[in-house]
Amino acid sequence: MAASSPIPPPPSIAARLAGARARIATAEAASGRPAGSVTMTAVTKTQPHEAVAAAIAAGADVFGENRVQEAGARWAEHPRPRELRLIGPLQSNKAAAACELFDVIETLDRDGLLTALASEAQKRGRSPRLLVQVNTGEEPQKAGVAPDQADGLIARALAADLPVEGLMCIPPADQAPEPHFALLAGIAARNGLSVLSMGMSEDFEAAIRLGATHVRLGSALFGPRPAPGR
Ligand SMILES: *Cc1c(COP(=O)(O)O)cnc(C)c1O
Repeated sequence: MAASSPIPPPPSIAARLAGARARIATAEAASGRPAGSVTMTAVTKTQPHEAVAAAIAAGADVFGENRVQEAGARWAEHPRPRELRLIGPLQSNKAAAACELFDVIETLDRDGLLTALASEAQKRGRSPRLLVQVNTGEEPQKAGVAPDQADGLIARALAADLPVEGLMCIPPADQAPEPHFALLAGIAARNGLSVLSMGMSEDFEAAIRLGATHVRLGSALFGPRPAPGR
């Protein structure tokens, strides 16, 4: 048929996934962490059906989504993955829908949402596992509890019998992420929490060095997103 294109095709999602898994394994080994101790969350926000299907076919089984409604629509078209995680901000009036859809909610960051999640847990007799999001850079436009307020929120959530298992952060885009990862790890350690969701496509190896148990990868697996969607 036509002569071969001068532009090589972009790597497939399967190839990107294999590459990311290999880099995670190398980072685990380099930090003396057991193989398989870091979970890769594939972030499928804004991705078309075929991209999600390709990731599932390539063996991804833990997925992250930013918006409740968008996630509900997307995942109605795919088999239920092993784990679906909410990684975007949650409005209290969507707490019921989020509890219905997600296995883990990573973005508990304020008392109003705590109350809504506790009331859902009461009604349903169970709750998604929870992470508290910490605004490590204290950026006014960003979700998350302030670092010096985190201990209190964690204590109140546990006192309400909510299953808080760890912390999540998104460091400021214009700063070195390491101090933010270290700050998050310190808050988790002093509160006896074992799960640390930190590190994205640009910085996940640094996050693993500093103790991440979950890294959230979007563009590393799916290529650049068309629209900015942090
Ligand atoms: C979009 C997003 C990610 C993935 O970002 P990449 O840089 O594409 O890996 C991770 N975490 C959160 C909270 C996000 O919104």
